[in-house]
Amino acid sequence: MKILTATEKPFAKEAVNGIKQIIEEAGYEFALLEKYTDKAQLLEAVKDADGLIIRSDKVTSEVVAAAENLKIVVRAGAGYDNVDLKACSDKNIVVMNTPGQNSNAVAELVIGMMIAVSRNCFTPGTGSEVSGKTLGIHAYGNVGRIAARYGKALGMTVYAYDPFIKDKAVFEKDGVIMAESPEELYSKCRFVSIHMPANEQTKKSINYSLLSLMPKGATLINTARKEVVDEESISRMFEERNDFRYAADIAPAIAAELKEKYPNRFLSTPKKMGAETAEANINAGLAAARQSVGFLKDGITKFKVN
Ligand code: NAD
Repeated sequence: MKILTATEKPFAKEAVNGIKQIIEEAGYEFALLEKYTDKAQLLEAVKDADGLIIRSDKVTSEVVAAAENLKIVVRAGAGYDNVDLKACSDKNIVVMNTPGQNSNAVAELVIGMMIAVSRNCFTPGTGSEVSGKTLGIHAYGNVGRIAARYGKALGMTVYAYDPFIKDKAVFEKDGVIMAESPEELYSKCRFVSIHMPANEQTKKSINYSLLSLMPKGATLINTARKEVVDEESISRMFEERNDFRYAADIAPAIAAELKEKYPNRFLSTPKKMGAETAEANINAGLAAARQSVGFLKDGITKFKVN
């Protein structure tokens, strides 16, 4: 059986070597397609693959149709909005992610971005400190929990809201205050960091009605997905409030305009950088290889998302 690793944006070398080793030790064939520039290359490479390991690569219905033997797709990372789940399910292809493997990398970027925007994006002028301020964590999953811990280590008062966690004790054991609603979270917190997946419920859900509740010095940090933030609301917030700041991991469509108009209050990465550390690469890549082998050999479906 053949497991293809197809990454437009390659894994770190050490991760590739580890993936290869895990696949070959299991007695399977390792195939690699890196830095491909044309969808046709992926369509060709996936033809005879039984397993597929990807990063942010798009697994569309076309890719699924081309993959005649495919049984499993593992997205090395947390978000799997780049995979057409229905197309996979229709062909009985199992889809998994590797939750938790890159969370620390993303949480560290949250803190880095929060400090950078608080220092006026390193433009001249007096910045402010984050210590002693309020931090709101919107969605308390793997990344949100670590960001909360780091916020506390910086001396911040940390609140969190997650619609799927109703038990206060989950937050309290981490020294985090549970907000009862998104409105409460945004009204109480000067900094809000968002960590929900991009899906039909969350797309454009971070909008003016929530952001306008934020207190003076309102700062939004988005390392989730650009789609969850309503960009018109961001423009409106910048126009109406000269205290509003926004830091985004991956430039929104309006990035050039925001950078020009508000160079000291807006920051974005040119490419998604949250999980772009050697450690996260290795952790997620190796987990993806283990999960692929575990499924093909023993039918283990832990972390299946479809
Ligand atoms: P996770 O699955 O561990 O946590 C997601 C949390 O979101 C869960 O606690 C869940 O209850 C909550 N949630 C689900 N639906 C929600 C909703 N409608 N409103 C509010 N909360 C909701 O995922 P994670 O590892 O913490 O990652 C979070 C997101 O961050 C991912 O889905 C991904 O899109 C993004 N991410 C980005 C990078 C990057 O490179 N910037 C890397 C990893 C993850």
